Amino acid sequence: MSYIENVYKVMEQRDPSQTEFHQAVREVLDSLQPVLEQHPEYQDALLLERMIEPERVIQFRVPWVDDEGAIQVNRGFRVEMNGAIGPYKGGLRFHPSVNLSILKFLAFEQVFKNALTTLPMGGGKGGSDFNPRGRSDAEVMRFCQSFMQELYRHIGENTDVPAGDIGVGGREIGYLFGMYRKLTNTFTGVLTGKGLSWGGSRIRPEATGYGLLYFTREALATKGESLEGKTCLISGSGNVAQFACEKAIQMGAKVLTLSDSSGFIHVPDGINEEMLAWVKELKNERRGRIKEAAEKFSSVEYHEVKQDRDCNPLWTIQADIALPSATQNEINGKDAENLLNNKVLAVCEGSNMSSTSEAIEKFLDAGILYTPGKASNAGGVATSGLEMTQNSMRLVWTREEVDQKLDEIMCKIHETCAQTAEEYGKTGNYVFGANAAGFRKVADAMLAQGIV
Ligand code: NDP
Repeated sequence: MSYIENVYKVMEQRDPSQTEFHQAVREVLDSLQPVLEQHPEYQDALLLERMIEPERVIQFRVPWVDDEGAIQVNRGFRVEMNGAIGPYKGGLRFHPSVNLSILKFLAFEQVFKNALTTLPMGGGKGGSDFNPRGRSDAEVMRFCQSFMQELYRHIGENTDVPAGDIGVGGREIGYLFGMYRKLTNTFTGVLTGKGLSWGGSRIRPEATGYGLLYFTREALATKGESLEGKTCLISGSGNVAQFACEKAIQMGAKVLTLSDSSGFIHVPDGINEEMLAWVKELKNERRGRIKEAAEKFSSVEYHEVKQDRDCNPLWTIQADIALPSATQNEINGKDAENLLNNKVLAVCEGSNMSSTSEAIEKFLDAGILYTPGKASNAGGVATSGLEMTQNSMRLVWTREEVDQKLDEIMCKIHETCAQTAEEYGKTGNYVFGANAAGFRKVADAMLAQGIV
């Protein structure tokens, strides 16, 4: 059995139920054979075994009282995966599906993503199985306060700097930051995604979606293509999807869809700026459902999607580009076939691990442009890194400055992935390029720091 297969087998035996984590590890390890052949020192130092083991996992009870006065108990987690190149950095997710397997997969991906950003950030991820949907602002605040009453002991501007993810946006970061400040009596850059008047960075809310489009533009350019006039399918209608849609429209593309976990809207003529502004208000202020868009606009069709379906009808709509921006494994093998049958040019991931292993294989076999989340959605954490820099320097950059730095970072990530793939004779394979480049950077730092 090869070294890689053995590492994988031991991991499966240790944590047999952590399927999402296995999937994320498998995707990285499958890329690494040529790198290990070139660098036997990585295997000698047992780097793979060390990288798949989190440096620290914190799990805690989060008790809180709902609006009826009933006591609720949730689980809180923080996975501090790898701090070799900087403080742990990665979002917090509040969603009923959250468990250790999902957070370990996200933290593992985050390590390589952060390494690609060119900024000094290690990888971590955290969250809770708390479901904010249908909860009042006061309930969300009490939950966030209880969550932070434990988390504050483990984080810090030089230790671990959480941010948002699914279910954690500006409102939640505000409540979390307020409690951290009260408990520690310090005002530091311990969280990113903060409001502008209290240490936030301009462009941070936009960053993941905008960055996704900058990366997509670079990938298309390798085939002599551009976004101008292209049709796009976007899933999700949260932070990433909203700003991916905004930038796609600005770049001259036509966005045909947005979705939530109940269904999707289809706008054959393309979502316009007025509709997008309405969706932002619906999702960020009123916290409503995407189907309401069909009641508001006559050109919008709504299609309900059952969670137990074998494929998502959203991906059967004919379009040039797919930008999945909702959640993991949202494109399965059948969805991939549907996209390929419709001659999709590019699938660029906004969500983390958007595609199943089967779907990735189909995209790579077909030779389309396929860019994994850890490369194409890295703009969010990169701008969080820029927020940390501004906090340390106690200054605020303009919108233009941050946007330009974000664009430069996305170009650099694209170049690194493309060049690394080429170096190993795998031109155009962004999965290999992202995994190999991210891995080498972290591996070299771990080697230099000894067995810790
Ligand atoms: P939000 O909570 O703002 O939005 C998530 C969207 O996805 C909502 O429309 C939600 O619908 C939908 N969704 C969530 N879970 C499911 C599901 N199981 N099935 C179908 N739809 C679902 O999250 P973000 O936009 O921040 O995050 C989206 C993705 O992007 C995630 O994979 C996240 O890890 C990734 N990401 C986010 C970054 C960021 O900066 N925010 C950075 C890098 C990656 P509903 O409201 O019905 O649940």
